[in-house]
Amino acid sequence: MRTIFEKSNGIDGINLTDEKVNIDYIPSNFLRKNSIGLPQIGELEVMRHYKSLSDLNFCIEKGFYPLGSCTMKYNPKVNEFLSGLEEFNLHPSSCACDSQGSLKLMYNLQKALLEITGMDAITLQPSAGAHGEMTGMMIIRKYFDTIGENRKKVIIPDSAHGTNPASAKMAGFETVEIKSNEKGQIDIEALKAVLDKDVAAIMMTNPNTLGIFEEKVEEISKIMHENGSLLYYDGANFNAIMGYTNPKLMGFDVVHLNLHKTFSTPHGGGGPGAGPVAVVEKLKDYLPKPTICFDGDKYFKNYDIKHSIGSVKDFYGNFSVLVRAYAYILMMGKNLKDASENAVLNANYLKEKLKDYYDLPYNEPCMHEFVLSGEKQKHENGVSTLNIAKAMMDANTHPPTVYFPLIVHEAIMIEPTESETKEKLDEFIELMVEIAQSSKTNPQKILDAPHSTPVKKIDEVNAARHPDLNFKD
Ligand SMILES: *Cc1c(COP(=O)(O)O)cnc(C)c1O
Repeated sequence: MRTIFEKSNGIDGINLTDEKVNIDYIPSNFLRKNSIGLPQIGELEVMRHYKSLSDLNFCIEKGFYPLGSCTMKYNPKVNEFLSGLEEFNLHPSSCACDSQGSLKLMYNLQKALLEITGMDAITLQPSAGAHGEMTGMMIIRKYFDTIGENRKKVIIPDSAHGTNPASAKMAGFETVEIKSNEKGQIDIEALKAVLDKDVAAIMMTNPNTLGIFEEKVEEISKIMHENGSLLYYDGANFNAIMGYTNPKLMGFDVVHLNLHKTFSTPHGGGGPGAGPVAVVEKLKDYLPKPTICFDGDKYFKNYDIKHSIGSVKDFYGNFSVLVRAYAYILMMGKNLKDASENAVLNANYLKEKLKDYYDLPYNEPCMHEFVLSGEKQKHENGVSTLNIAKAMMDANTHPPTVYFPLIVHEAIMIEPTESETKEKLDEFIELMVEIAQSSKTNPQKILDAPHSTPVKKIDEVNAARHPDLNFKD
């Protein structure tokens, strides 16, 4: 046998096997005539190139990340270690007999999430919050089809996340929007006015996207159920309520969770995420299959689900994300409650300290997040919320969510999470106050921001509407 040194042709040849690739079957007009001209660069140079690109990314390891509605809490590194353990590195087609440990982990995670939500049955399959929403709405649709009621409408408050109407539509429903009242909550009269026997469900987020708890949720649940309709709970804001209340107590029938928000798994560039969906007993037979069950002796994948909507993801979901979430839940234990308590405390602290400098359209006690408005700065100093957001980047701070929720003009939506220290929160307050003051004394400085980023202002709208996907030198 020849050694690796004899086989290798060095960097130009990159041919460790000595076998020529057979290109005879490729039509000659498809064959390249000239050399591709790839730069000959050493591995170290390539590595430095990508490292310097990755250094341009902002992440929570670099600075404060108060992105409202996204729960950018710290993702403990031990989660990464555990999800990378060789024992979890199984082929998804492994039989149940070879994957008892992984199935047990999923089973235990199901149990933990059921306890946290108060619900009766759950699927771990969906791979994002929006995917969970669609799964939940498909369950609701199939439920009404099965009981022979052809309900077509879904009610959604005007403060909702844009994925809510999108998911309802994708599941085949029409959406009906209702206005929020002056307290930023669902207007019961507006709800009653659109309620009829054609309404399948209401999609609610509680606390809602203004960070305000819907005080009338029990009454809403009663009204909906009396009409034969169901209640869907968008659990993206779960970080506000863990251990204090749950969607079952509030009267919901279906809920999704965002493991990449509340349960400290990475958001990572759009995925992979996980959006488990939990339901009450009467919707149990509609869950996607398989669910993970235990017969007292062995864990198994249960495909025997009577009215299942089918499968919504290949295999069982993003397993390594599930490992991370389970690790977090085990590490936190009853302290999950403290996470919510501190998240709410931190948000209220920031709100109280900032409300004299920015408009606060809904001056209510908030939950884990709150929404300011940059209207005052815009009208008095010509500085928009976008300018304010860009100015924060100069101070190594990720801007909050801006221009959402849509019902607040010049919205600035701040969610500090429980992970931050009081010192960090005070630094942020100082920064926000400084920006408000500069807006008056030196607005040009804010208008010209960011000053320190490699790219100044980018035309995001144009980039989204007319993407140029061609490679350029
Ligand atoms: C993040 C979010 C969603 C969507 O979740 P994804 O995991 O991003 O798909 C839905 N509703 C609310 C309120 C959210 O904040």
